[in-house]
Amino acid sequence: MQTFRIAAIPADGVGREVVAAGREVLDALASASKSASDFAFDWTEFDWGCDHYHRTGRMMAEDGLDRLKEFDAIYFGAVGWPSVPDHISLWGLRLAVCQGFDQWANVRPVRFLPGVTSPLRKAAEVPLDWVVVRENSEGEYAGLGGRNLAARGPGSEVAIQSSLFTEAGCERIIRYAFELAATRERKHVTSVTKSNAQQFGMVLWDDVFRRVAAEYPHIESDSCLVDAMAARFVLRPEDLSVVVASNLHADILSDLGSALAGSLGLAASANYNPERRFPSMFEPVHGSAPDIAGQGVANPIGAIGSAALMLGHLGLPAEAARVDRAIEATTAAGVLPRDLGGTASTQEITLAVIDSLG
Ligand code: ATP
Ligand code: MG
Repeated sequence: MQTFRIAAIPADGVGREVVAAGREVLDALASASKSASDFAFDWTEFDWGCDHYHRTGRMMAEDGLDRLKEFDAIYFGAVGWPSVPDHISLWGLRLAVCQGFDQWANVRPVRFLPGVTSPLRKAAEVPLDWVVVRENSEGEYAGLGGRNLAARGPGSEVAIQSSLFTEAGCERIIRYAFELAATRERKHVTSVTKSNAQQFGMVLWDDVFRRVAAEYPHIESDSCLVDAMAARFVLRPEDLSVVVASNLHADILSDLGSALAGSLGLAASANYNPERRFPSMFEPVHGSAPDIAGQGVANPIGAIGSAALMLGHLGLPAEAARVDRAIEATTAAGVLPRDLGGTASTQEITLAVIDSLG
């Protein structure tokens, strides 16, 4: 019997509700596992997040990364609450883990589910199936810059927010996108930048993209400016497969993608440390949704889909596919949460997914 040690960090708001849902699905899967492929999850839950910040002045324990290092994976909810400035909660926990564990590849699939209505007119004809690959270690989220640099009095403050693009950082994420495209039916990579206006880092990215693309002649590729890409997501989504972009651009585009798929609550994501030197982290794309937190109505599908990505990472691809099929069976049967126009609670959807595990 294989036991996986998982660190659960539900953190804030609906993060707690959807992490509980994902854990129920994974435990149901493990207890139903056949003897040949027996596995179990050994969960350790960490109560880090905004409440922890109010109690201790820190979003996570000071030795948090040391404590997380030994786990096979991290299952994360969502971070942020109105009582804590967003940049403090984000940097104090989520980005601390992503950057501390060099989880440089953030993979965010966008998929239409049966029984879910997309706001996109084309969705009926074109079954969208993309993956947004987000550079997750540098770019616009490098944390470089400062405030007050030239403040000489009220109204004269200057702030600088720099982006960092390294050739090695661009190359590893672009190569990751091509390797991922090679495993997919539609072998196509689209690179997104704003290199007409941002003439240093993003031009470096373009140069690296051209060089790496030449090494993969059997994979089609193209480049697109991010503003045009936002329009293309809506108007011409059918020719996309893998979309690779910088930290900021991919963050924005993956929210757009999940909204096109029906709701932000559907989108799953994995923050990989591809070298496996550190644990990878699996989390829904959405935030803590304070407007609906604590009501039992959050859509758990993004979190359950993230649990499926975690299963794949742990070497259980057949179990991952089982969870994905159970999600599809649930939405196809019309068991939909409020954000998708239904009435099912978080718990009802979770139980429907468990019932459909087959
Ligand atoms: P972050 O900065 O952490 O990404 P955010 O400020 O972008 O957070 P979210 O917390 O993701 O915002 O919420 C955006 C909207 O989407 C809110 O109206 C919220 O209710 C809705 N939403 C987010 N997650 C879910 C979910 N799991 N189920 C239903 N609705 C959700
Ligand atoms: Mg957001």
